[in-house]
Amino acid sequence: MELRQPVVVVLGHADSGKTSLLDKIRGTAVQAREVGGITQHIGASFFPIDTIKEVTGPLYDRLAKSETPIPGLLVIDTPGHEVFANLRMRGGSAADIAIVVADVNKGFEAQTIESIEILKKRRVPFVVALNKVDRVTGWRPFSRFISEEAKKQSADVQTMLDEKIYTVVGSLSRLGFPSEAFWRVKDFTKEIAIVPVSARTGVGIPELLAVLVGLTQQFMGKRLERHEGAARGLVLEINEEPGLGPSANIILLDGTLKQGDSIIVAKRDSAVQTRVKALLLPKPLDEMRDPRDKFKPVSEVTAAAGLKVTSPDLEGVLAGSPLYVFDKAKGEDELERLRSIVEGEIKNAIVSTETS
Ligand code: GDP
Repeated sequence: MELRQPVVVVLGHADSGKTSLLDKIRGTAVQAREVGGITQHIGASFFPIDTIKEVTGPLYDRLAKSETPIPGLLVIDTPGHEVFANLRMRGGSAADIAIVVADVNKGFEAQTIESIEILKKRRVPFVVALNKVDRVTGWRPFSRFISEEAKKQSADVQTMLDEKIYTVVGSLSRLGFPSEAFWRVKDFTKEIAIVPVSARTGVGIPELLAVLVGLTQQFMGKRLERHEGAARGLVLEINEEPGLGPSANIILLDGTLKQGDSIIVAKRDSAVQTRVKALLLPKPLDEMRDPRDKFKPVSEVTAAAGLKVTSPDLEGVLAGSPLYVFDKAKGEDELERLRSIVEGEIKNAIVSTETS
């Protein structure tokens, strides 16, 4: 059985280091370029599994080995991840897995708790990245592996880190989750793994990626099975691209989307049907002759992927709208069925983001 790439979101309190951590993970992957580096999507970055293996080194076999490997991770890198995670799609959430970032010196803050409540409600598995470990008083850098670096700290610093980890274990316990520092976790399906990291030095990133991949490969196989046909996705935003008119940045979550496909998306009052005029992917930098010449048209894209879609009737489509492909051969009943799914999902999404 072939698996699609899981969709990863990064949540957490403002200033906990979400952007910095994503940048550092991207930078680390770029350094592993000999094996593929990363591929830039619209609104997301794709980390191929071979790149992740290169970054995680010997940890991969220990934490992430699997008979049915995922092709890699699709990490959403546009803001608004909470909304994305909160969208109630068929199958729970638009996100398959999440990284919750918290500042090690501040512990859980208001938005950290909100994020975890959303993940809990939508049953999205997550890992906690306890960031800014380089700022723990007396911390000294030694390695890119946090398990090695933590052991080399002075006894006082080790105690301090343990206290900070246990504060977070306490916060998670109040939210209903058993948790542990990842090196003490025995069963990753039962305990949330806490991985101390630094977006500044990069320490802990190999462990964070290994734990993420391990979680998805070992426990999410069914959810990640590729489905032929039934393409569905999610609109991240609608924008006006010079020369293209209104276009939608979408994350394709399942199936294959083709040029000419008929899609159902939501506007404020109802679901609409429109035809895909063009599917656009970002051009690699070295193929870009002119900054306006940013996109490469393709005839089809397979999930999971981030791309730009143009179509005659996208004006007024809601950010956060689900997107389904309508197979005309299936007739009017199918169209009505998809319309009501889209209207139901968007109503739920709006209600749930307004009440959270
Ligand atoms: P976001 O709001 O969660 O996206 O947080 P940012 O990535 O913008 O980071 C907030 C601030 O914390 C910035 O000044 C970063 O340079 C700093 N920062 C983020 N991660 C680390 C880290 O691991 N160590 C240190 N020392 N500073 C960090």
